Amino acid sequence: MEKYLYKSVNGNYPLIMAYPACEEFALSSLGYLWLYKIADTMDGINAVRCSTDNVDNIKNIGSIAFSMSFDFDFMGVFEILEKLNIPLYVNERDENAPLVFAGGPVITTNPIPYEEFFDFMLIGDGEESFKKILKILKSYNKKEALELIKSVEGVYVPENKAAKSTVELTDVIYTPILSDKGYFKNTFIIEVARGCMNRCAFCTASYTNLPFRCNNYDKIIDAIDLGLKYTNKIALLGAQISAHPEFEKIMEYIEQKIDNGANIELGISSLRTDSVTPKMVQTLVKGGQKHSTIAIEAASERLRKFINKNLKEEQILNAVKISRENGLKGLKIYSMIGIPTETQEDIDEFLRLGKKIKDENKGFNIEFSFSSFVPKPHTPLQWAKREDTKSLEKKQKYLEKEFAKLGISSKFSSIKWDFWQTVLSRGGRALAPFLVEVYRNGGKIGAYKAAQKNLNIGIKNEFMLDDVLPWDNIEIYPGKDLLKNEYKRLCKKNQ
Ligand code: SF4
Repeated sequence: MEKYLYKSVNGNYPLIMAYPACEEFALSSLGYLWLYKIADTMDGINAVRCSTDNVDNIKNIGSIAFSMSFDFDFMGVFEILEKLNIPLYVNERDENAPLVFAGGPVITTNPIPYEEFFDFMLIGDGEESFKKILKILKSYNKKEALELIKSVEGVYVPENKAAKSTVELTDVIYTPILSDKGYFKNTFIIEVARGCMNRCAFCTASYTNLPFRCNNYDKIIDAIDLGLKYTNKIALLGAQISAHPEFEKIMEYIEQKIDNGANIELGISSLRTDSVTPKMVQTLVKGGQKHSTIAIEAASERLRKFINKNLKEEQILNAVKISRENGLKGLKIYSMIGIPTETQEDIDEFLRLGKKIKDENKGFNIEFSFSSFVPKPHTPLQWAKREDTKSLEKKQKYLEKEFAKLGISSKFSSIKWDFWQTVLSRGGRALAPFLVEVYRNGGKIGAYKAAQKNLNIGIKNEFMLDDVLPWDNIEIYPGKDLLKNEYKRLCKKNQ
């Protein structure tokens, strides 16, 4: 069942809001649902939701907006376009074909591999530019609309330059449609803050969302109250929510409600390791949370410094201790292997730290969860080399075996998928036929290798500082020169 927390407005212009995965995930994507609400409440627009398993209801199409959150979302984009009988490439569509455009974190980070599939793309925060685009779409024919849209802030069309659109957080974003079909069933998600001021050198969530912005406390409280009218599941969202100056107060407000008898299930994305407090954990536990996560990225202090994750070992140990002493049953510890300059000693540090945490916290559930380093555009490590797959798999096997000997649980992302994620995120125009070939061959891991071979696609595993980068036309604060200086500073710090 779906519950709309707002009133839809009817209109004539048919806008398809497409999510390139199944409906279960579409209904859990806060950004997608919020933009849908913007379209669904705008005079003159008839907004229709669509996902890979929900295409049959689409009859009339004025234009199609895709929201791309994950690097492999192109599969869902192609699937939906084909189900709607729309050619994949812009230049294969005739003048009566709808305008097809996209936005979201993948597009903001690097739109270049996708430019042959979309008429235009949106870089950065979507709220304001999306409204401007809708106003143009409903008022002009396709050709005129495209010309006018090119000058909207944050819009990228091939060969042009585009600067990221950044909004002030005036309205708190929250789940506008509650559904028991969503991955997070009936969960009312509230955005507390956007971005993160820590600027870890690999972190696209931080760099592409600068400056760090917080929502107004009173508006967050109003949103919590609104959510509680419809559900007891509240989740607070943000890459660095505990940096909100009134985060403690927000947690106190929720705690008070629970103490007064409200049955609230509270979820927060992850705890910031250096600011976990007893109070924070107690509130989470009262809100029914049993496990949480912290991200340490590396176990060796040298490597953490190299990536700008300035976290001391005492702070990690302290976060675990506070979590255990205040009622959590366990913690997941996010880490990475393959960070540039990593040595065997750095890998062994994971085992030493894991043993220490286990010894100091008997009976507490600890799980190390590893991914491998994926260099991302617009971060200081965008030029860095991605370690060879075989060598990463060797490290993975070693850690898996040694953690098992210590009786500590460990989980690993797929090194092969992480490799292809690197290729996609740092790709250029030449990737377009490769993406189509992968799609035609079913999109499994073998399809990537086969497509690379068939099309003889060259893969650049490292960039030089003076290389022209595929995404150089996209301007994202703080800009390429500052990223270069930061990369040089990190490398120098490491000597
Ligand atoms: S603390 Fe987390 S969200 Fe913030 S920059 Fe570092 S990795 Fe990114």
